[in-house]
Amino acid sequence: MDAGAYANDIEQVLLSREEIQGRVAELGARITADYEGLDLLLIGVLKGAFVLMADLSRHIGLPLEFDFMAVSSYGAATQTSGVVRILKDLDHEIAGKHVLLVEDIVDSGLTLSYLLKNLRTRRPASLEVCALMQKNDVQQVPLDIKYRAFDIPPVFVVGYGLDFGERFRNLPFVGTLRPEVYRDAVT
Ligand code: 5GP
Repeated sequence: MDAGAYANDIEQVLLSREEIQGRVAELGARITADYEGLDLLLIGVLKGAFVLMADLSRHIGLPLEFDFMAVSSYGAATQTSGVVRILKDLDHEIAGKHVLLVEDIVDSGLTLSYLLKNLRTRRPASLEVCALMQKNDVQQVPLDIKYRAFDIPPVFVVGYGLDFGERFRNLPFVGTLRPEVYRDAVT
């Protein structure tokens, strides 16, 4: 693993850099084939999706537009609150556009469910989801995630865009944290 300054904080690597890069390339190729002949708008959900957005978009061989939304996340906690707040809305209208929403991780599904409902009211031509990870057995809302890179166990993870207290986003892999990291954060 290449954890650099975070080497002492990581307990286990769940998804290696190579595994992630391989799956992202596969998804990019599928998306390129599925949207052939169409203009596609990628909407990234900040902040967690910025790394996936950057890598995925370079595997999509189509004319692309980009926009971002920011929603409230856990902050420094590791449990979902179920309350979703839009901190930054899209810069442009999406009516009549083919939209692919890019998410880092789906846990309870509450964030994604809220976002999809919200975006549907804006009448896009189509709306699908690409997520790096979905946690097993914790989904509270049934969701159709067309492009999903990995299923993971229901544990709290960091890296490849995902943070704990705004740290760890720049790790090239996804892993779990040593218990001391949580303990030190609350004391
Ligand atoms: P949901 O609404 O599906 O429960 O949670 C979705 C959001 O919570 C994600 O977009 C992400 O910001 C945050 N989240 C969920 N699970 C994790 C996790 O294991 N690690 C981190 N860092 N954030 C998570």
